[in-house]
Amino acid sequence: MPLSLNVDAERWRARAQTVIDGSSSTVVPVTKGNGYGFGNPTLAIEASKLGVSTIAVGEYEEIGDVIPGFGGDALVLSPWRPWISTPDASLADHVIHTVSRLDDLRTLAATGNRPRVVIEVLTSMRRHGIDLAELPATGEILADVQFEGFAFHLPLAGDHSAEVRTLGQRALAAARDAGIDTAPIWLSHVTPSVADTLAGDLGADVRLRMGTSLWLGDRSLLRAQSTVLDLHEVRRGDRYGYRQRRAGRGGVIAVVSGGTAHGVALEAPAPATSLRQRGISLAKGGLEAFGRTLSPFRVAGKQCWFAEPPHMQCSMIWLPAGEAVPGVGDELDVDVRFTTTYFDDVTFAE
Ligand SMILES: *Cc1c(COP(=O)(O)O)cnc(C)c1O
Repeated sequence: MPLSLNVDAERWRARAQTVIDGSSSTVVPVTKGNGYGFGNPTLAIEASKLGVSTIAVGEYEEIGDVIPGFGGDALVLSPWRPWISTPDASLADHVIHTVSRLDDLRTLAATGNRPRVVIEVLTSMRRHGIDLAELPATGEILADVQFEGFAFHLPLAGDHSAEVRTLGQRALAAARDAGIDTAPIWLSHVTPSVADTLAGDLGADVRLRMGTSLWLGDRSLLRAQSTVLDLHEVRRGDRYGYRQRRAGRGGVIAVVSGGTAHGVALEAPAPATSLRQRGISLAKGGLEAFGRTLSPFRVAGKQCWFAEPPHMQCSMIWLPAGEAVPGVGDELDVDVRFTTTYFDDVTFAE
């Protein structure tokens, strides 16, 4: 039985639609990595229902996962590099490249296929982007590509409106020098209202790339659940698990679905087993003093202890004698980080 994600479908879809419709900028849904827990192919289908024309993926490898279900265009967020193999001819028209180096822009322009490109401009993030000083040099190259606008990737910390305004004006001025009146500005991590203000200030359309706040904006509509696979009563002194630890007292070991392969509890601290470590843990408040860490699994609303560190597919959790014991096949709520969890099963319940 699986580790599953249950979605309150009607409300979740309505919420996403409200996010799209409520923004006067064009929202570009982002799906990448583990597809925010849903999986990229699933979010591609959901994005198509939202009526958007463009989505964004993280990597070139992800294009094939989304185009069949989506059908529209896909912006690739990771900047193009010379070692990237060209997408299939059937997909090429749907792919918008992000270009973050002048040399790469020249190389793409020289292909003669007029690929679709967004130029990423370096921001205070200092990750990828063409430096402002080099923007004028892009002008003459733009005629050999289908120019789709400028992108700014902003830090999460702080207000970066002023930075976008300055960079945006300079970038649009460079485009005007190349005979392009205006161009869309692609932004991330700004609120729709800030995006609207910036669109007005710059006299440009804003494309708002949005993942977390679109898909995971209301966690109450998402329920991660594990299944109880096995229950074993243990008495004080009984050994159990890979580590053959002894039970300090009587209770029940519950074997539940969800392990490291699903990304469950990857952040759990290693068990403190040595006497010295136990001493340290005791001094820190005793949470790990007996080689135990709190698990993300809940029984009757209460967070349970791991009996030992999670295995690949399942976990062993400890239910002390006297506490509620679920039945085999029962589902338990799990606290997960959606961007690092791989569910076996995603269910949209109507
Ligand atoms: C991942 C990513 C996003 C989406 O980020 P969220 O925080 O999930 O909305 C937007 N823009 C860029 C450039 C990204 O890499």
